[in-house]
Amino acid sequence: MTSKTSCDVLVLGAGPGALAIAAAMCQENLRVSVLSANDPREPWPYTYGIWGKEVDDLGLAHLLEHRWVDTVSFFGAGALEPEHAENKATSHQYDYGLFDKRRLQSHWINQCDDSKVKWNIGKADQLNVNHKISIVKTKGGELISSRLVVDATGYEPVFLKSISESSIAIQTCYGVVGKFNRPPVEKGQFVLMDYRCDHLDHTERSQPPSFLYAMDMGNNRFFLEETSLGLAPPMSMEMLKARLGRRLKHRGLEITSLEHEELGLFLPMNKPLPDLTQPILGFGGSASMVHPASGYMVGGLLRRAPIVAKAVAIAINKEGTTSAEIAAAGWKALWPADLRRKQALYQFGLEKLMRFKENQLRDFFISFFGLPSNQWYGFLTNTLTVPELVKAMMKMFANAPWSVRWGLMGMQGREIQLLWKFLKPVKDT
Ligand SMILES: Cc1cc2nc3c(=O)[nH]c(=O)nc-3n(C[C@H](O)[C@H](O)[C@H](O)COP(=O)(O)OP(=O)(O)OC[C@H]3O[C@@H](n4cnc5c(N)ncnc54)[C@H](O)[C@@H]3O)c2cc1C
Repeated sequence: MTSKTSCDVLVLGAGPGALAIAAAMCQENLRVSVLSANDPREPWPYTYGIWGKEVDDLGLAHLLEHRWVDTVSFFGAGALEPEHAENKATSHQYDYGLFDKRRLQSHWINQCDDSKVKWNIGKADQLNVNHKISIVKTKGGELISSRLVVDATGYEPVFLKSISESSIAIQTCYGVVGKFNRPPVEKGQFVLMDYRCDHLDHTERSQPPSFLYAMDMGNNRFFLEETSLGLAPPMSMEMLKARLGRRLKHRGLEITSLEHEELGLFLPMNKPLPDLTQPILGFGGSASMVHPASGYMVGGLLRRAPIVAKAVAIAINKEGTTSAEIAAAGWKALWPADLRRKQALYQFGLEKLMRFKENQLRDFFISFFGLPSNQWYGFLTNTLTVPELVKAMMKMFANAPWSVRWGLMGMQGREIQLLWKFLKPVKDT
């Protein structure tokens, strides 16, 4: 193939992963091409949430559209606290925010200096990795050559190879935005998880649990989402919709004006890491960057993109490096040993949570959010060091009731393998 355009880095995709890494590469003065199936300024289908401290620490608080100070969860009555009132709120004491998705998108696009980036619309179709140059052919027949290809085309990447896994846990949610006959959450409140299940009968409670994620959006508008944290096979939309209906009815709530309905949202939570020896790089969902315990990723994209871009720039600027060597430098920066170990622990945690019965799960979360806030926050945002993470987990284990401890100790399925991945000393590749 002979190529039409040539650059240092070709980024595939136009989601948060692609724009974050393209922006970071431009900041490293690399010549970047972006090839995306859709216009990179086209609004994303989802709105992304993040803890306020994450954007504050990055100096990006201005990218939020909404910010809640009153952030709570409800886990019902716990085993260790029989007096724990069913409706008692667990206060999180950290702000939570929703990005203004256009602002976040522009933030990254504006970092892509027009003299360094070329935007191409088209679908990547074929890849040819040569010694020093990789060539991507689009469905329309255009050829783009680069020193490095970054596949950021989401959870089913076009070129990146994943290690196959028999069952992937999928987070599913059914959501509504609208007005109600009375406020479904307190004014100005954000509810991370409402795991109360007094609206379900005994049989329903023995089925996999789901929780309510809810927030006051202002002007009497509320966003409510019935969510299954992660299941394989996934919880159906019908069940989530029916559960939300039951929940609302039980509390005497009715939707008086339905503004928007979110259907069919599926998020793979515990995709294995991609093959880190392949000669192209991944970023975002393609590279398994979703936090397996929370489903969040944007904070990680913002923190990790500059680190990866720096490593790639050093490799590109080194005399004679091959495409494979440049990709290897990127993979090493993206998934260093410590992050791989933590990812295994988060995946282990998710396996556990998927097996927990409803009351065990509620007790787990009471214990988890009973940790000092910097510990649970660090776990959820993936900002603890490995020793800090171990300390937090040991403290949680010590504080948890026996039902949770037994659940954490009994090993099933791939849990041993994941725990071993965390415990065994790993070297950087
Ligand atoms: C419903 C839902 C809610 C989420 N909520 C949050 C949240 O609140 N907070 C958070 O931090 N994370 C959240 N996430 C997780 C994560 O941040 C998102 O999934 C995010 O969209 C992933 O970004 P991405 O760029 O990797 O992939 P995507 O957003 O899927 O983007 C993939 C891009 O690749 C393009 N593409 C695909 N194939 C090709 C091809 N062959 N050639 C060229 N381009 C191609 C697509 O057009 C698209 O632009 C959520 C995920 C889901 C599914």
